[in-house]
Order: sequence, then C-alpha cells, then structure tokens
Amino acid sequence: MNIKKRNTLRLLSLVLLVCAFIAPQNLEAQRKKKDKKSKTEVEAPKPKKDKSIKDLTKSSKKIEGLFTMYRDTITGSLQMVISDAHLGKDYIHFNQVANGVTDAGRFRGAYGGSKVFKVKKYYDKIEFVSQNTSFYFDPESAISKSKDANTSEGIMATVKIEAHDKEEGLYLIKADDLFLKETFTQVKPPRFPGSSPMAFSLGNLDKTKTKINSIKNYEDNTNLEVEYVYSSPSVLNGGSQAITDGRNVSIKVFHSLIAMPDNSYEPLFDDPRVGYFTTQVEDQTATNSTPYKDLVHRWNLIKKDPEAAISEPVKPITWWMENSTPVEWRETITQGVLEWNKAFEKAGFKNAMVVKMQPDDADWDAGDINYNVLRWTSSPNPPFGGYGPSFVNPRSGEIIGADIMLEYVHFTNRVFYDQLFDLAKADVEFNASEYLKKNKVLCSFGHVMHENSLFGQALIETTGGSDLEMARMKKESMLALIMHEVGHTLGLNHNMKASQLFSPEELADKDFIEGKCLTGSVMDYAGINITNDRAKQGQYYDTSVGPYDVWAIQFGYMPFKSEQEKVALLNRSTEPELIFGNDADDMRAPGKAIDPRVMIGDLSNDQIGYSIDRIKLVDSMMSGVKTKFAKTGESYQELRRAYYLLSGQRATAVNVISRFIGGVYVDRAMIGQEGGSQPFTPVSLEDQKRAMNALTKYAFAPTAFSAPSELYNDLAMQRRGFGFMRGTEDPKIHQQVLTYQQNVLSHVLHYNTLQRITDSELYGNEYSLSTFMTDLNSAVFKADINGNVNSFRQNLQISYTNTLIDMLTGKQSSRYSNNAKSMALYNLKQIRSMAAVTGNVSSKAHKEHLRTLIDNALKEVK
Ligand SMILES: [Zn+2]
Repeated sequence: MNIKKRNTLRLLSLVLLVCAFIAPQNLEAQRKKKDKKSKTEVEAPKPKKDKSIKDLTKSSKKIEGLFTMYRDTITGSLQMVISDAHLGKDYIHFNQVANGVTDAGRFRGAYGGSKVFKVKKYYDKIEFVSQNTSFYFDPESAISKSKDANTSEGIMATVKIEAHDKEEGLYLIKADDLFLKETFTQVKPPRFPGSSPMAFSLGNLDKTKTKINSIKNYEDNTNLEVEYVYSSPSVLNGGSQAITDGRNVSIKVFHSLIAMPDNSYEPLFDDPRVGYFTTQVEDQTATNSTPYKDLVHRWNLIKKDPEAAISEPVKPITWWMENSTPVEWRETITQGVLEWNKAFEKAGFKNAMVVKMQPDDADWDAGDINYNVLRWTSSPNPPFGGYGPSFVNPRSGEIIGADIMLEYVHFTNRVFYDQLFDLAKADVEFNASEYLKKNKVLCSFGHVMHENSLFGQALIETTGGSDLEMARMKKESMLALIMHEVGHTLGLNHNMKASQLFSPEELADKDFIEGKCLTGSVMDYAGINITNDRAKQGQYYDTSVGPYDVWAIQFGYMPFKSEQEKVALLNRSTEPELIFGNDADDMRAPGKAIDPRVMIGDLSNDQIGYSIDRIKLVDSMMSGVKTKFAKTGESYQELRRAYYLLSGQRATAVNVISRFIGGVYVDRAMIGQEGGSQPFTPVSLEDQKRAMNALTKYAFAPTAFSAPSELYNDLAMQRRGFGFMRGTEDPKIHQQVLTYQQNVLSHVLHYNTLQRITDSELYGNEYSLSTFMTDLNSAVFKADINGNVNSFRQNLQISYTNTLIDMLTGKQSSRYSNNAKSMALYNLKQIRSMAAVTGNVSSKAHKEHLRTLIDNALKEVK
C-alpha cells in the first residue's frame, strides 16, 4: 500500500469515529426500539419455533432433480434443497450464453467454461466452493500430504440455512442469492485499462430486474436460464443496432450444475505431436523436466464388443440438427458430420457419430446440455461463421457435451466487416469472449471460409462458370465448414500446417483429388483451391477428412492394448501427411511464430509458387471485374465488394510469401524417432531469395497493386441514411495499398524476424541479415529513385524510411538488436545518398522529403 492510500484510509476511519460521537439522537432511537421489542417479548412469551421446510415452501411449486428447487408461485422467488448426500462431493458448473449481444462479447451459444465445485456446510450456512484442478499429487508420495500448500480454493457463495429437516438430512436455502448474482461465473466483461471511454460497456447488474427465466431439473443435472440485466442511467455509447436500449441490456445465461460422472472413463494424457484441446495438469510429485499430465479432451467411447476389431460404441456421439436449419442444407450438414465415421472406423468404432433431427414440436430447447445440437443463428455483427465448442469434466478431460453454432451469414453476400481490405487484421481482433481467447477455442474458420467462398463466387461469375459449378462450390464449402467445426467438438484443435499435403500439380489434377481432403486435415484454414486454367478445375475444398484427422482420432479414441501400441502410433508423426502445427505456431500475425508452413490462407507444398499463381489470377480478374459486377439498375456496391475481395486475396498471398524471410522449419519429433530431424532447420537460401524476389515484384514494385484506372471511378458504396457523415465516401486507394505493403514490412522488419535472421546464421541460415536488408532497400528504391517516383511508391518509400528510423529512435527501438539497428542506419545512409533531387516536381519534393527525414533522424541517433 502506498503512503497516500494509507493516509486516505486513516482519514476515513477518523471520520467514521467522529460520526459515531456526534450521533447521540441515533443512539436514543435505538434504545427506544430495543425497549419496544422487549416489551412485546414479555407480552408473548411463547418459545420461538424454527420453521420447517414444509412451512417455508407452502406456496411453492416443487421441481425435483439433482438439486431440488421450490419456486414460489406468487413471487417467483426460488429456494433450493441441499441434502447431506451433497456435502463434500464434487459437482461441475458449466455455463453457456443463451442469448446476448456481440457488442459485449457475449453471443448466443458462447461457452463459458466448466469448473469443479463442492458444497460444504459451515455452522448455519451452506458454502459453494470452487476447486483447483491444475495439480496432481501421487498419493504414494509423502509430499502429497501438503498438496493444498499455496493454492487457493474459491468460496463463491455462503448462504444461510433457512430450514433444516434433521430426519431426512435436508437444508433449505434461498437460491435467488446464488443465481441472481454473478456467483458462478463472471458475465459482464471487465473493462481493460486504457480502453477508450467511448467504447461500449455494460452498466451495473440490476438485482431488481435480473430474473430466472426457466428451470429444468434432471437426475444428473440442474439447469437454469438467468436473464442478467445491466443498467446505467446514462450511456455515452448505446452500442450497435442489436441493442434496443443501451441503458438496459440483457444477457441470458444457461447455468448447469452437473453431478460428477461416475463411470469407467480413463483419462488420456496429451502428446506434443498431436493437436487436442487439453486441461493442463502439473504433477507436483514428479522430478523430471516435463511433469505434465495434461488431460486430452475426448468423448467416452466404449466398444459394445471389446474383442471385435470394429464395434459400435455403447453410446454413440449423437448430434441433433436444430429445427431452424435451412431445409436445403440438411443433407450436406449430415454428410459433414458422418464423414468423421471414416476416421472412427480406423480407430475401431462403427457408427460412432449419429445425426438426428430435432422435431418441430420438441419439448427441449437447443440450449439443453443433454443434447448436442447443430444450431443456426443469423446475428447482427456475427462473431463467427461457425463455432464448435465442447465442455469437459475438468477432473478427467471427458467431453460431456458439445454444440455447433453456424451463422447464416455463410450463405449471404453480406460482409463480416465494413472495411473488407482490413480482413487480415479483423481476424486477429475477432471479438470473442475472454474465455474463448484464453482457451484457444475461438475459430474464425467461418470468416476465412466465407471470404474464400465470396472469392470463389467472384471467380465463377467473372469466368462465366455455370450455376451448377456455383452450387458445387457452395456445397463443398459447407461440407468443409461442418467437418471442421465437428472436428473441434471431438477435441481437435487447428492444424495450420496440414495444407502442405499436395503439390500444386496434384491440386490441379481433378481426377487425382476427387473425393479427397485437399490438406492433411480439415482443421486447417487453407486457401480455396483454384486452377488458373478454368477447364481443369477440380474440387474447391476438402470433401473428406484427411490423413492427419484419421491418425489424430486413432490416438484419441483407440482402445490401446498396450503402451507400446500407443507409442508406435505416435511415432508415425514424422510421416509427411501427419505434420501438425496449431494457432500458437501459425504465422498469421506479423512477427509471430517461425515456421512458414504453419500459415493460414495458403495451400500446397509450394506456398510461394501457389501464391504467385493466385496473384496472377487476381490481376487477370481485375480487368474483367467491371463488366461482370456492374449490373444495370443496381448500385455499385457489388462491384466495390468484388474489388476489395480480389485485393484481399492478393494481400493474403504476399503475406504467405513474406513468412519465408528468416523462416525456420520446426520438427517436433522425439529424439531418435524414425524419420525425424533436428528441431530447427532454417529455410534454404534459395527459397528465401525466391520469396524476396516475389515480394520485390508483387508487393513493392511501382505497379504492384495497380488496378485498371476506370475501376477507381466506380468504387462507390450505396448511400444509406447519413452513413457518410463519419468518413468521406471516396475510395482510399493509396491508404489501402500502403496497408497491404506495411503488413509485409511489419513482418520482415519485426524485431523477432530480424533477431532470428542473425541467430539462425549460427545454425544454417545462409541469407544473412546484411544481404536481406540490402535486398530490401533495393526492392523499395532501385526501380525509380533515379527518375520519377509514382504516388504509390512515394507513399511506400516514405513509410519504409520512417520504419527504419523508428527502429533506431522509436518507441520499440530498445527491442531491436544492435545488428538490426546498424543495418537500419546503413540503409538510411544509402537512401540519403541515392535520393538525388531529380525527376519531375512531385518526385523532387518526395526526395527532398526523404532527405529531410533522414537528416533529422540522424541527429537523434545516439
Ligand atoms: Zn476452427
């Protein structure tokens, strides 16, 4: 505590003391009250009788289940029965948003995670205490006696016992105190320090408005839907149109209290070579350097016939298709779910997945945790295109339930974000709840898929493809989306490395790829497969699960007969089609991660070649865009969308290429594993040079992003109300192109990338820092510095020069290595000497600008 705070506290206690002394009239009033009370006690000397549960629940309806509830039929207030049998036992709490607003990051279907809690009795109170599940102690080890040291339980609530039935061992408590507050989970997101005061935020929880909407009680789980109301007397930002009244916002949450499953489920521990979601557990009694007992998330599949090579499971994973599913898509969706049965068959299970239709008159809600539901929503500001969460028993990793949320936006030409050219950024800033971010289960595959599909549509339209072709592309895209989201619900996380499976030639061979997964796994975010020769177009997307998916399901679900059998399966990880790298390894954000094969929006084992092909395709499409997308009688909105879509694909392609500069391939094989190599191998000089040449030509050249000039006249949004009040409506072409170029520069000039180039020179990197930096200077200046410089290149050259200056004197300069700083200084001096004041007036002004920037910066360098 600092001195100022301490003084404030002292002052406060002094004020309180003074208050006590100067309030004699209050004391007098209290005395009077006391006298009155004792008088009545004298008049009525009957002994006080405790009320029974029966007395207190007279006007209530009984709802029997795991935790029996009594709901008052007049006031709606809720009471709950705790029995002696509940005390000291483990229960699971799970919550899911029943309905919310994306403004607050709380959207329909969002899972809020599960925790273990115990119910305890403390004198005349009942406590709800959350349990720590992060550590394991071998009970055989003496140190396990101190297993509670330095960990904290969480006492979520303490509630007074209102009545006690000694014979039955029952306690009645007021449940409103539990559920009308954020007792079990934090619903309102915290406000981050430094966030804009203009940003939307929820008001305070209003206890009088918050209510329990429904209660469903079963033998093994008790479920409540609570509508939390957040109120504020006045708001600066009333939120999006999805919010009816910014001063009163409702977030509806399903709470489930679940009995700890009592079954023969055997936990499976994680392996770094396969990508499952896990609950991290550390063995505090182990002495090795990897004391991990991380629990794999998976369903409890048991063979009906344990001896049979392939058997049906005792209980299959059953999916219910919500009755709101568009009729024309039901068959494709079913097919997407059942594709996984191919993988389960290789793990010894037949019909592991089953799909059923929710009847129109079903008496259960799609949010009921007892049903795994394929759900549909059409939200304002959809937070995803698809989302496949599952919830687990934190003690064992067993998946208890799952849902798949699909957004109708997938079928529409609506765009996720207003500024489509910022899609790459938007992906990173995806507005998901903190839980999703923390648990890495957020999936923006739907976004990527939707962008891919819009591009596919634009391509089919501009190249005169048939309606049948269009329908096929859309169907394949839906199938791939469903397989991907189902994969998440089986416990699998992303595999962004899987797109390395085939060569560009194989992908362009329609007979070869027919019916196959185009990548090693449907869990990748690959680009859409397109052949520049349209006559040769085969499959656009994965239509079946991939070899990695089959292998991962074998690891997760096969009943292994011995440890050796499991090790042998894991040792196959070095087979090329089984490579794996997830979101933590992927290079989508500048400067993040190191292996260029783990990337999104890429395809084939020659990402550079494939990306160049995509750029050529986009450039050729640009000229036809105007005739295909400007339709008589309509506004220019569609044309504008097509333009940004094509530019976006081009930007993605150059980003994919840029990741090879300073890239290092990662191999997670264990020591001595057959087919394995050393963990780190730098990208070859040849490939880094190839990438640099492609960037020079397709990202930085004077004509790199130019489009037919007559297109610029038409990039107009349709006017809507006063929509242009916030910004002018003319296309911001230079800003758009510079953003694409800066995305590339912010990766290749990131302090992580530059440091890695220097470090990896020690272990095999032949593209030295000095060569790369010299090549980059040439790419940005050589073509035109001696003559006229066009407006795009002026913009790029100034921005690049400022980046070099920032490396030396900017806020982030301390993060750069001295080697990188020396090269930045060297390059600036080179630019200074190159920038002779020549060319037309505009070019002279530009070069003067460059010289002034550098002269001023050099004075600052210390
Ligand atoms: Zn995903």
